[in-house]
Amino acid sequence: MKELSSTNAMTIDVEDWYNSSLDLFEDSDVAHGAKPDPSVVDNTLCTLELLSKTNNKATFFVLGTVAEHYPDLVKEMMIQGHEVATHGYAHNLVYKLTPQQFEDDLKIAMEHLSNAGCCDVLGYRAPYWSITKKSLWALDILQRLGFKYDSSIFPIKRGLYGIPDANPDPHEISEDFWEFPPATVRMVGMNWPIAGGGYLRLVPYPIIASAIRRSAGKKSRVFYFHPYELDPSDVKLKHKIKSAGTLLYWMQQRLGRNSNPDKLRRLLSEHDFTSIKQILSDQQVN
Ligand SMILES: [Zn+2]
Repeated sequence: MKELSSTNAMTIDVEDWYNSSLDLFEDSDVAHGAKPDPSVVDNTLCTLELLSKTNNKATFFVLGTVAEHYPDLVKEMMIQGHEVATHGYAHNLVYKLTPQQFEDDLKIAMEHLSNAGCCDVLGYRAPYWSITKKSLWALDILQRLGFKYDSSIFPIKRGLYGIPDANPDPHEISEDFWEFPPATVRMVGMNWPIAGGGYLRLVPYPIIASAIRRSAGKKSRVFYFHPYELDPSDVKLKHKIKSAGTLLYWMQQRLGRNSNPDKLRRLLSEHDFTSIKQILSDQQVN
C-alpha cells in the first residue's frame, strides 16, 4: 500500500445551518433540497478570508443546492486555489437511498458544480457520514463514476453513522481510489473523534493540538467544519425545528458554539493544512 505525506487536510462542508440537523430532528419544516439561506454565502466568504489570512488551503465539499443557487461562491473557491468536491445534492442519508437514487442525487450535484465552472471533481463526502456498513455499495458507484476518493466513513459508532472497526487512517481502498476518514485519536482501545463539528467544539483545544503534534511525520489527518460555525449567531433552528428546545438539540447545535470561531482560528493559525487533492498529488510525485 502507498504511504501518504503527513500534511493534514482541512475540509469544509458547505451547506445551510439546518442541514446537519435535518435527520436528527425529524420535526423540521425545512425540506431536503430547499434553497440555502443567503447566510451560507457570507459565512463561506468569511471562511475563505480566514484560510487566506492563515495561509492554508482546503477542500470544500459543496452541497448541490449551494452550487445551484450560489454558483459565484463556487467560482470564488476555485479562484482562491482551493479544491472543490461534492457533498451530494439534497443532503439525504446515503443508506436511506437506493443505489439508483444515490447515483441520481450525485449526478445532479455534479451538474450544478459543472454549471459553476467546476468540472474536475475528485472527491465525495456523504451527508452526515452516512456511508456505513449498510451503504458500502456507494463506494463502487463513486469509483465507477470516476471519483478518486471518498471521505465519508467515520471510524466510530454513533446513532446515525459510523463503522467503529474501519481503518482510521487515510488508505487506498482499491487501485487509485482512496478513503480519507475524519481524524480520531486512539485511547483505551477505542477511536475518539477530534476532527471537527461538534467534536471540535467540545474537545479542549490542547487535546486536539497534542494529537496533531503526535501525528507529525506520520499519517495525514482530516479535519472539518461548516462555514456557519464561524458565526455563533447563525443558528435559527428555533424557527423551523420544534425540538429546538431539547437537550439533544442543545448538545448537537449550541454547546461550545460561542467559543468555536476562536478555536477554529487558532487551529488554522497554529497548524498547516492543505486540500485532500494536494495530499493525493504529493503522494504521486513522492
Ligand atoms: Zn452536511
